[in-house]
Amino acid sequence: MHINLAKPFFGLFLLMVASSGVFAQTGRFQQAANYQMDVDMDVNTNQYSGTQVLIYTNNSPDTLDRVFYHLYYNAFQPGSMMDERSRSIADPDRRVGDRISKLKPDEIGYLRVRDLKMNGKDVEFSEVGTILEVELAEPILPNSKAKFEMSFTGQVPIQIRRSGRDSEEGVRYSMSQWYPKMSEYDEQGWHANPYIGREFYGIWGDFDVKITIDKTYVLGGTGYLQNPNEIGHGYEDKGVKVPQVKGEKLTWHFKAPHVHDFMWAADPKYRHDKFLMENGVTVHHLYIPTDGVTENWVKLMDYTPKAIEFMSKHFGQYPYKQFSVIQGGDGGMEYPMATLVTGGRNLNGLVGVMAHELAHSWYQGVLATNEALYPWMDEGFASYASALTMSAIYKASEAPLTGSYSGYYRLVKSGKEEPMSTHSDHYDTNGAYSSAAYSKGAVFMAQMGYIIGEEARDKGILSYWNTWGFKHPNVNDFIRIMEKESGLELDWYKEYFVYTTKTIDYAVKKMTPQGDQTDITLERIGLMPMPIDLVITYKDGTSEMVYLPLEIMRGDKAAEAGAPTRVISEDWPWTNLTKTIRINKKSDMVKSIEIDPSKRLADIDQNNNKLEF
Ligand SMILES: [Zn+2]
Repeated sequence: MHINLAKPFFGLFLLMVASSGVFAQTGRFQQAANYQMDVDMDVNTNQYSGTQVLIYTNNSPDTLDRVFYHLYYNAFQPGSMMDERSRSIADPDRRVGDRISKLKPDEIGYLRVRDLKMNGKDVEFSEVGTILEVELAEPILPNSKAKFEMSFTGQVPIQIRRSGRDSEEGVRYSMSQWYPKMSEYDEQGWHANPYIGREFYGIWGDFDVKITIDKTYVLGGTGYLQNPNEIGHGYEDKGVKVPQVKGEKLTWHFKAPHVHDFMWAADPKYRHDKFLMENGVTVHHLYIPTDGVTENWVKLMDYTPKAIEFMSKHFGQYPYKQFSVIQGGDGGMEYPMATLVTGGRNLNGLVGVMAHELAHSWYQGVLATNEALYPWMDEGFASYASALTMSAIYKASEAPLTGSYSGYYRLVKSGKEEPMSTHSDHYDTNGAYSSAAYSKGAVFMAQMGYIIGEEARDKGILSYWNTWGFKHPNVNDFIRIMEKESGLELDWYKEYFVYTTKTIDYAVKKMTPQGDQTDITLERIGLMPMPIDLVITYKDGTSEMVYLPLEIMRGDKAAEAGAPTRVISEDWPWTNLTKTIRINKKSDMVKSIEIDPSKRLADIDQNNNKLEF
């Protein structure tokens, strides 16, 4: 589908209209949270204080007596749930390990709510680890708004995971998960998950944030800077002379429409490069210029716009006016309109992490499935999207998802696989979580192309974006989109591949001559059934495909471009362990018989997929 790049923000407008309040086409609702925050940072103590006004809209059919805020920074304290979990898990994250347990009082993180009012009246609240539990003085009725006003203080922890100060690379502030953030409430109820280490789920709203900080600091992050000509630091309009500031501090004013989080980063050493794309998106890069780093970040400016363009074309139009790649954090982490990545990488590594985090703008930022419940729909789909993007940018010859398939096969072999339906904080090992979320999740999407055909899958990806952008889709919503796009029944795919660890293994069992004809017998060895693309190559150099539909799909995928001429066999019911088909050629003409030469079928034993004569 061609997308008109001259109208980049039209899509956001439509999505915003469609996503306000209750949406009839899904029978679901969406809460809204508009934040206004004013914070003051002391760069000597690494402490900050702020006020927050939150207009909360309850679009649910329920009356709310309680609300919950996340206080993520409290995780960075000895004895926190994150600390305990990081030390007791079988395969600790090397970035965390036992480091939280050793933090001194001036190195821990905290976030404390000083006072909290709803609609002008004090409410009762208690801090329980990383969650603030709030008992409301009066309930919030369905379809009504409440105004919460609070003051809070915080201390930025030493950088351990995602957020923090003074990272290994010397970045002063990576400010993610830094403010009291209202928990999401949806058709599955409250999601007041304590912060153990995994990812996030939030409410969309408009953020208006003022950050007052030492004037030597350069900031970047979520949101459009409202006072660039007062701030300077590369944000000012061309030709503007930025006035000298009296006093020690500057106030940066950002606005971010329709985002579910707000991150910022700050360092006095940041160099700020920007580039205005033809489609109106401004790309910002912020990094600490050093030998070996600067050169790669300068070259990265060729790649970030290309990746935004490619992803907009294939996965849905990027809906914001800016994207910032910022050196910070401890790897790569996605936020609305921005990412924090470590900077000391070779160029390919830097492009790869940028592309992956950028892809999250689609799956974590706008589609935003609940990452606790469906981490693979974010990490897996983002991995899929960035693999395709990298492959296109670098014109690679290898199939883009090869790495994801091998990651999944390694997971199966490890014996540690858990179903992808596991809550992300509750996997037994970090390894099983990440291989399932990143690799198997990407395979889920790539293999969808095998099951329903690439064309239907690709249309489905855009339809998923248009239908579910800004609405927190779950696995059923995704499956329904693909069912509608293909006309095929796909519930079985979700039930096997997401809810279980059952695996796929098919074999070409034997070839039996039948006079002028030939019988080919296939066998299902693995517990998970699939439709089969069987390619028979003849000694005269021709080949044909026999497609064996899976009966429970109630139909056939369309013939795919580039595939050999296809014959559709009768269905193969999943209950039958073997299937014999007959071809109208003599057996001595057959050179080879192969199951899915495209290798999109995640068959865990491919040694039995081909017979050669
Ligand atoms: Zn990711």
